[in-house]
Amino acid sequence: MTKNKIKTKKSNKTLETAREAGYFGKKMLESAIRAQDEGKPIGWSMANWWEGDIIAKAMGVNLVYPENWGAFCASIRRAEPFLEISDGEGFPNTLCGYARNNIGFAKTLKENDFVIPADAPGGGLAKPIMMLASGAACDARYKWFQSLGRYLDGVPVWMLELPQTGAREFFLPENKANNLKFIVKELKLLIRFLEDLLKCKMDDAKLEAMVDQAFKTLGLAHEVDLLRRNVPSPMVSQDFWSIMIPHFYLPDDPEAYEFYQRVYAEVKHKVDNGIGAIPNEKYRMMFGELPPWHSIGFFDDIAERYGIAMVMESWNYHAPTPLPEEEIDGVTDPLERIARLCYHKYTEYNPAALKYAVAPSYFSAPFLEYAEIYRTDGFMAHPLMSCRPATYTLMQTLQRLEEKRLVPGVVVNGDIIDLRVFNLEEAYSKVEAFTETMDHYRELRRKAGMAW
Ligand code: SF4
Repeated sequence: MTKNKIKTKKSNKTLETAREAGYFGKKMLESAIRAQDEGKPIGWSMANWWEGDIIAKAMGVNLVYPENWGAFCASIRRAEPFLEISDGEGFPNTLCGYARNNIGFAKTLKENDFVIPADAPGGGLAKPIMMLASGAACDARYKWFQSLGRYLDGVPVWMLELPQTGAREFFLPENKANNLKFIVKELKLLIRFLEDLLKCKMDDAKLEAMVDQAFKTLGLAHEVDLLRRNVPSPMVSQDFWSIMIPHFYLPDDPEAYEFYQRVYAEVKHKVDNGIGAIPNEKYRMMFGELPPWHSIGFFDDIAERYGIAMVMESWNYHAPTPLPEEEIDGVTDPLERIARLCYHKYTEYNPAALKYAVAPSYFSAPFLEYAEIYRTDGFMAHPLMSCRPATYTLMQTLQRLEEKRLVPGVVVNGDIIDLRVFNLEEAYSKVEAFTETMDHYRELRRKAGMAW
């Protein structure tokens, strides 16, 4: 492992609203701690692309997200002790960093008789009465919550499946109908499980209102993405990685919607006045996949040193493109609305995946589209020591971008959580050299008559 000699600073962010976004992370953690004091139910949930968490919340469960908390622990450099506990328990250090951080914390919690240690980052995670796992995206997520059974003394885990249709299968005639039916059935089973556990019934009207709110928030988050297409870029990834918390975890919360109204106004003001997020934008880059949460200040540094604006990032954190009206008009059943939203999220780039010959569609194809829409000069691939799903597609993305879009890539190795494998000096020198590559490819695109 490589030790960093230089400590990076946290990102300063370029938007005022991005500096406010931490409120939502705190809100989730504090609500759960309050719920514990009041004897209300608490759940630990994986990100599930709005499939099941809204259901649990509508049933009165206060959710916290260990992935989000893991990112927070890393950002304040407090993850390492939990990683070491996880390693000491025999879990491999190549396991998902979020899982390792969560396992280390769960062991600490158990050893403290389920009283959250006073110095836990952000107040810590209150003990759950259930865990909502998701089969989407990766194998680690399939087993991680099950493995917490060692520490959480019989807390039940509900595994929610989300179909991830391949690009060719997407075009089969019955594919969509079958997938929607499958998701709705999964949601009904989840409701039955929660009703049995909590001994109360789902409030359909409440769920319907929450789903409507989530659609509104996600729609507005997408509008912000559209504004980011402008040159100079009015907002960069350092902003997005904070701003995403409300739409990714809390889209059903009216406060999240109000927050996005302020984000939209701030970003629009910048667009209308030609104000770039960084004053010296020279290169526009995309970032894939999950960021080094411990060192977001690195992106401020490469902006300042080389004029690099990170204008777009991984598909997975973004609100989907809005569902076509004919797709959702007249669909009043909230479960079907959720099913349509999730199915759309996971399949919307299948046509592009076929066009550019990449698989699976969701990790690679968006970048092939973003390259032109966001007028990018380069792609930064961040292979993660502890995340296979968000790593194995990166080389494919990098090659296809170069071949088909004349957009070159640079590889900066690291990890979401584990600071010890991120070599900051090496990252700077790679990026510095890469600016010449971007100049070269810009010239190639010009000669090839490409649009940017
Ligand atoms: S996708 Fe990667 S970061 Fe996310 S849970 Fe799976 S292994 Fe962890």
